Amino acid sequence: MYIKQTIEQLAPYVPGIQPQMDGRVIKINANENPYPPSPRVKEILSEFDYGQLRYYPDATSQRLRTLIGTHFNLSSGHVFCGNGSDEIIAYLFQICLEEGDSIATPYPTYTLYKTIADIHRVHTEYVPTRDDFSIDIEALINTGAKGIFIANPNAQTGLLLPLAEIEYLLQNYEGLVVIDEAYIDFAPATASAYELVARYPNLVVLRTFSKSHSLCGIRVGFCLAAPMLVDALDKCRDSYNVSHLSQLMAAAAFEDQLYLQKTIKQVVATRERVRETLISLGFEVLPSQANFLLCKPQHHTAGEIYEFLKSKQIYVRYFDAPRLSDQLRISVGTDDEMDVLLEQLIEFL
Ligand code: PMP
Repeated sequence: MYIKQTIEQLAPYVPGIQPQMDGRVIKINANENPYPPSPRVKEILSEFDYGQLRYYPDATSQRLRTLIGTHFNLSSGHVFCGNGSDEIIAYLFQICLEEGDSIATPYPTYTLYKTIADIHRVHTEYVPTRDDFSIDIEALINTGAKGIFIANPNAQTGLLLPLAEIEYLLQNYEGLVVIDEAYIDFAPATASAYELVARYPNLVVLRTFSKSHSLCGIRVGFCLAAPMLVDALDKCRDSYNVSHLSQLMAAAAFEDQLYLQKTIKQVVATRERVRETLISLGFEVLPSQANFLLCKPQHHTAGEIYEFLKSKQIYVRYFDAPRLSDQLRISVGTDDEMDVLLEQLIEFL
């Protein structure tokens, strides 16, 4: 009655199970970082004068924008901060896409692009990845869509699209190009497209504090883009879209690049060790450049393994969809958590 029919018909975004966390639960189903955020975040919280909360936060997250801009050798006018990168994805639809337009995105990928497209009555053209899950840039361009969304490394697979292919896309396509680098910090440093932002006005590089900075809980993301796009994002954002504490904590984490590099190195080392062990146990495992591993068992169904692990309070993500039939996605936890997981798998297999 009160709700638009298009909204009633929407399939909402479904997150992984969020169990009550106690000492025994191993939650490796949402690509969260197993390590705490930088100790500087704790310091900021303990020093914080709670009386400040009666004021609205800085509406433009200016200090954070300046810090980020300087780090990436761009002006703060190239940076926009959001309440999670998910919010920025929604704003991009508001500023760049009209009802009835299309976006193109590889399949499989982060499902939220389609969820938000549906909200805005924008059609999603899924372009299947090749048999090896690599992304077909030419096919994406050939859709003629008004915008192209690529997660790099790609969600669900963890595979990295080489920078040369992103540049090829930008040279041959004039629509909106969103490169979602939520997981890029777990890939080699040269993989990011951020340097192309200064040269291509249609490029948006999306980042988040949720993964490598271990700050899912504060909901801060940012994007790097031409000032014209940033200005447009500023026109339609919530009046105070990033909370005071979130701005402070994100800035503290961002300034601690040493801690960031240390935890990334640890996650990557664990990822490689676990991948090799899973392969030796008979799993097919894609060579992920992210903080998770997509894998398929040989002698059991992934569904059986998922249920078994769940009964042991180990939560991984299970997929059973086209191209992702009967697969497990395992986020990289601490070495201890991964040892428990591997022991349980050995017992089950
Ligand atoms: N992009 C991708 C590819 C993701 O997997 C995620 C996390 N699920 C996000 C964006 C969202 O990140 P945030 O927490 O900043 O909204």
